[in-house]
Amino acid sequence: SKNDDKSTSHVHVSRRRTDDSSRSNINHFDPNCIIYDAETDTTYIRGRLLGKGGFARCYELLDLNTNKVYAGKIIAKTRIAKPHQRQKIFREVELQRDLMHCNVVGFHSYFEDDQNVYIVLEVCSRKSLVHMLRQRKTLTEPEVRYYMKHLLEGVRYIHSKNIVHRDLKLGNMLLNENMNVKIADFGLATRVDYEGEKKMTVCGTPNYIAPEVLQKAGHSYEADVWSLGCVMYALLVGKPPFETPTLKETYNRIVENCYCIPNTLSESARCLIQKCLTPEPELRPSLDQLLVDKFFTAGFHPETLPTSCCSHVPKLP
Ligand code: ADP
Repeated sequence: SKNDDKSTSHVHVSRRRTDDSSRSNINHFDPNCIIYDAETDTTYIRGRLLGKGGFARCYELLDLNTNKVYAGKIIAKTRIAKPHQRQKIFREVELQRDLMHCNVVGFHSYFEDDQNVYIVLEVCSRKSLVHMLRQRKTLTEPEVRYYMKHLLEGVRYIHSKNIVHRDLKLGNMLLNENMNVKIADFGLATRVDYEGEKKMTVCGTPNYIAPEVLQKAGHSYEADVWSLGCVMYALLVGKPPFETPTLKETYNRIVENCYCIPNTLSESARCLIQKCLTPEPELRPSLDQLLVDKFFTAGFHPETLPTSCCSHVPKLP
């Protein structure tokens, strides 16, 4: 009977699960959603939706040749009909393709078919720091030491490749299975072509944008240091430093350097945030200086964090 068929197939699936735990997610993959990269003769099966962005929908992709799971940013060609929209994607791919660092989302491949373009990336299955903060409201200082260290290492590497990210914010900081932080989304990034070159295009996300970017004074690597200061503040306080109900007021406060740090934060945490939020870009600390800041040795600095930190305050020394 029909029922018997069902139970047999169920037994089959659960067996496979216990045989190979790395494939425990196999049920997410719908064999009706096959994606084929003709150039490299690679077949992927689409899995669960990981997130949606301005252009892209991001899905788990299972590579059938290797059985590895990736994150596939899938962008419908109808959504990138205008030349400048395509250009933006090519630039993102071109900048990210050669980056290889444990705190930067790894690039795997890029291809197109008739409907879509595909950017295949290292998968970060634990979502972003936005999701974590939504659950946790604020993080403890030891956790922030852990995350900021990863972020500073990642940004130092990006800068060493002459790239300014320009959109560092909690939503672009992803977590993989092992709680490693990975910097994502190079859609607004730019290459610095010569030493001292200043960029003029206003871009970034309102709450994290540096004053010199806003004021079109010319910006470079230092704008990322500013954003990292905003990120650190947000992790410890629960909201970014210049957040107000209106864009206009937020921009006023950024330009006037008007923000308050609650005195519940430690002296060394407050001091590090202040240094990053220095109005003059040339007076902000370098990534190398930040990495040896007192904040990182002023208290417990965990080497690893349990996954329970995504939703619960950890019991740390
Ligand atoms: P867009 O460029 O269209 O804004 P994003 O790069 O922001 O697209 O990606 C959209 C969403 O997909 C992100 O907010 C995130 O939740 C998810 N995402 C992006 N890259 C990855 C990845 N490597 N691993 C897991 N999820 C990802």
